Amino acid sequence: MCKDYINNVMQVIEQRNPREYEFHQAVKEVLESLEPALARHPRYQNFQILERLTEPERVIMFRVVWMDDKNHRIVNRGYRVQFNSAIGPYKGGLRFHPSVNLGILKFLAFEQIFKNALTTLYMGGGKGGSDFDPKGKSDFEVMRFCQSFMTELYRHIGPASDVPAGDIGVGRREIGYLFGQYKRLTSDFDGTLTGKSLNWGGSRLRPEATGYGCVYFAKGMLKTRGEDFEGKKCVISGSGNVALFTAEKLIELGATVIALSDSNGTVHDPAGIDREKLSWIMDLKNVRRGRIREYADKFPGVTYHEGKRPWAIPSQCAFPSATENELDEEDARTLVKNGCYLVAEGANMPSTPDAVTIFRKAGILYGPGKAANAGGVAVSGLEMAQNAQFIHWSREYVDAKLQDLMQEIHDNSYNTAKEYGCGGDYVHGANIAGFMKVADAMIEQGLV
Ligand code: NDP
Repeated sequence: MCKDYINNVMQVIEQRNPREYEFHQAVKEVLESLEPALARHPRYQNFQILERLTEPERVIMFRVVWMDDKNHRIVNRGYRVQFNSAIGPYKGGLRFHPSVNLGILKFLAFEQIFKNALTTLYMGGGKGGSDFDPKGKSDFEVMRFCQSFMTELYRHIGPASDVPAGDIGVGRREIGYLFGQYKRLTSDFDGTLTGKSLNWGGSRLRPEATGYGCVYFAKGMLKTRGEDFEGKKCVISGSGNVALFTAEKLIELGATVIALSDSNGTVHDPAGIDREKLSWIMDLKNVRRGRIREYADKFPGVTYHEGKRPWAIPSQCAFPSATENELDEEDARTLVKNGCYLVAEGANMPSTPDAVTIFRKAGILYGPGKAANAGGVAVSGLEMAQNAQFIHWSREYVDAKLQDLMQEIHDNSYNTAKEYGCGGDYVHGANIAGFMKVADAMIEQGLV
């Protein structure tokens, strides 16, 4: 009965949203895992919650025209997907990457609904961005693009309606340019964007939050087996915001980080990346805007593997922290065969459905992105709270809150899975817990 309901809804979604493959993938994974909750609570089917929850409340698409340093006019496409506001203002990052399209942003916004619900804070789900590629652009080009992008976006966002943040290709520099233009257009200095600089309204620990939070979540998973990170070999994909702060926290907790990557290849450092080497990488990526390959040129004993991801390097813990579908079935088999027994997703949907099946069958600890990487948006929520009161909290205070929130997200996912007969399965636990909170709010709010 529930299976039929889910299949029928899925069929309509595929027909109504043709070629939005990542969106189909994300929705399918969530709906299938909701089966035990739908069976126990018929109200969700009676109120047609799945049909409503899978249709965005609003999608905004717009032209972004800007001028490069050679005075050429360039046209990009901008988007904001305002998916669900049942439990708070839309909240979710902006992604600037050439691969961005509507299907990818709808998948990200859909995932964001459940992630935000899990944080226990009052935030709905949204996501946005553009097919603009900041790589290789001058600061002035990035600034002109951001200004043009915001010249349309500003009319659709606000501190009580929609609060964007960063994602791939949108870091502190871009948030600065976007906020500057928002302020010029509205005359409001408010908490509309998060991920701001500390000087002008940002929260302490926001840059670190997703990576640190992911490690805190993984720590909770290890604890269920009476273990910690001391001496564990870890591989991380990516070398952006999430990957580098994941590495930083792992090193602090005594783990040995032996691999990082970017879209061109992977570096393998069998001796382990220590604090000093990591700070060199942070400078390389954030200041010099270099490539991870340069790490192998700089430090002895390090090898660079062009075109490869880190999954073939034997490890006990893996942290996919680059992008969606970056870890496939074969990668999952290789990881498990080589002794990996913990995967915590810093990125959104980095493991393909077949890879997830391998992890589940192997019975390893698997933390899906919407739970494991929720620390970023959680601290964004704390940034909104600080902005609303014109105050700022200390690093220690925010870190303590982040640790509590990640433990709560872990326990909620773990206990919900158990309650619905899927003990140890964090995918079921996270999806059911997030879903019920949003679905109940929608029922209480009437025909929304
Ligand atoms: P960054 O732009 O800072 O870094 C992204 C990293 O991933 C870079 O090393 C990049 O390499 C690599 N990468 C990007 N696209 C690809 C690709 N198609 N194939 C291989 N490698 C790729 O982004 P973030 O660290 O902020 O985000 C990483 C992931 O984490 C994303 O999935 C994002 O949605 C998710 N996330 C981020 C949050 C945050 O707070 N920033 C919060 C929650 C989730 P290169 O430089 O070569 O492009």
